Amino acid sequence: MMSQTIDLLKKELPVEEGRLPLNGDGAKTTGLVLVDLVNGFCTVGAGNLAPKVADKQISEMVEESARIARLFCEKKWPVFAFLDTHHPDIPEHPYPPHCILGTDEANLIPALQWLENDPSATLRRKDCIDGFLGSIDKHDGSNVFVDWVRNNDIKLLLVVGICTDICVLDFVSSALSARNRGFLSPLEDVVVYSRACATYDLPLHIAETLKDTIAHPQELMHHIGLYMAQGRGAKVVSEVSFGALP
Ligand SMILES: [Zn+2]
Repeated sequence: MMSQTIDLLKKELPVEEGRLPLNGDGAKTTGLVLVDLVNGFCTVGAGNLAPKVADKQISEMVEESARIARLFCEKKWPVFAFLDTHHPDIPEHPYPPHCILGTDEANLIPALQWLENDPSATLRRKDCIDGFLGSIDKHDGSNVFVDWVRNNDIKLLLVVGICTDICVLDFVSSALSARNRGFLSPLEDVVVYSRACATYDLPLHIAETLKDTIAHPQELMHHIGLYMAQGRGAKVVSEVSFGALP
């Protein structure tokens, strides 16, 4: 897509991006949510939905998400990581098979594997796009994400990951609806960190050569994801800063 066209659309669909200072003392209890930082979406050549070649937006998202996760864990602030994971016999329409249970696609990316052993981190495998729904236990109806918010007394949720317009957006939308219905007390704010989010790239000229595939221009869809999240009531920030460790 022509960059002038994208610029024009961004102007017509404005996203107000602020900055979020997290300075410890006096800051709201903040939880970090990592959406699907798994090989199947982030690591070049790792599967049907992984980038085919090095992707700047995705690699910057990985780098910034890993940096933020490290800072949260150093402060012993709560971190919740979703891992897209599917049973091999249950496809997820309209997507091709991806992140199959037991394969490396469904595992955290190398830059975040240390989270598996970090006491500040809660990991949740989910078999659907929306992590809020994916947190519901099929047997007893409990929701591990809702419990995590409550048990950690989280007032501000910082959300990063992939894809901005798919799993990040659906999770943010559900979390905001749940908050508005009183399910997520004491949560007040949901903040999407734009530089630590990314989506996949499938330009029109390539999509047209593939069967049953629609185009997904990365820069525009990333922007639309942020625009939609903002419309649902999330705040969008392009900068997150930390004060000195207490
Ligand atoms: Zn999936």
